[in-house]
Amino acid sequence: MDENCVFCRIVRGQIPSPRVYEDDQVIAINDINPAAPIHLLLVPKEHVESLMTAGPQHEALVGKMLLLAARLAREQGSDNGFRVVINNGPGGGQEVFHLHMHVLAGPRPWKRTL
Ligand code: 5GP
Ligand code: ZN
Repeated sequence: MDENCVFCRIVRGQIPSPRVYEDDQVIAINDINPAAPIHLLLVPKEHVESLMTAGPQHEALVGKMLLLAARLAREQGSDNGFRVVINNGPGGGQEVFHLHMHVLAGPRPWKRTL
């Protein structure tokens, strides 16, 4: 856990953010500034900065998050597809340095590209 990390604070309940989904490893929340009609963030409870610092011990977690993305997109009302975006590092446009997957779906046009 990182005291200064906004997603760690959300995971711990220090910043209120309703959970669309939660299990022992992952939460899903709605993005505060949605880029599409459906815009979820899948956030692991463990503080991992990005895929650049993830290791083999995170292989199952990342795989699980991808499958969860498909399930939650469908449950949130997307029946014809969705997009997953993972920004990694400043060069990849990452702004919150706690690994997360954006799950975007819903009727187009979307507001912006992540
Ligand atoms: P990144 O650019 O790091 O891939 O994306 C960070 C995302 O986190 C942005 O889409 C931003 O809107 C979202 N975000 C930042 N702070 C908060 C917050 O406090 N709550 C929620 N729900 N989303 C946040
Ligand atoms: Zn964190």
